[in-house]
Amino acid sequence: MLERQGNLFVVSGPSGAGKGSIIKQLIKQRPEIWVSVSATSREPRQDEVEAVSYFFKSKDEFRRLIDQRAFLEWAEVFCNYYGTLRQPVLDALKQGTNVILEIDIQGALQIKQMYDEAIFVFILPPSLDELEKRIKNRGSETEESLALRLKTALEEISYIEKYDYFIINDDLAESTRKLDAIITAENAKVARDVIEMLDSADKGFMLG
Ligand code: 5GP
Repeated sequence: MLERQGNLFVVSGPSGAGKGSIIKQLIKQRPEIWVSVSATSREPRQDEVEAVSYFFKSKDEFRRLIDQRAFLEWAEVFCNYYGTLRQPVLDALKQGTNVILEIDIQGALQIKQMYDEAIFVFILPPSLDELEKRIKNRGSETEESLALRLKTALEEISYIEKYDYFIINDDLAESTRKLDAIITAENAKVARDVIEMLDSADKGFMLG
């Protein structure tokens, strides 16, 4: 039997839409899915853990990694660098593992250009008021960075048409179910390798 490569799922949406919470919930139920850990030059938040939340780098270290072509994609978001490390993602896909990237729109567009087979999912907040409330509740943003995150949210939402699926996150359990369903459906899609596999299999039955 031919081995199938893993599917690459790109999840984006405004900061505060709840992407992180949905993905965390999902992998409790589907631990076989691998969530890529990004590198960033931003300071860790209080509850964040090195190599689990992010690989935290200085701006200089990050630029060195860019020069070494270590990133599949990278972008400057809210005055800091964020990037997906290339090798672990490629290794996981080759092994047939489904991979989730939680990245911003700039990064998602880079992935779309190089790998159109990726599946793009956009997470929306139920409303902009709710989005503001969620970012404020995090307690980690200044007035200035809150304003920047809200302005960016509006810009980002205008890119939704580039995505394959959307989820309005007003209920965490329901949103998690939807992402789970998207992944299940995408994994069941008939792909070229399956067609080849059937074609080369013993034709031991007849139709009609
Ligand atoms: P935060 O600072 O709230 O953790 O993340 C800010 C934004 O950066 C979010 O929209 C998040 O999806 C995005 N982000 C996180 N990791 C990456 C990455 O590796 N690449 C890109 N392009 N964006 C990322």
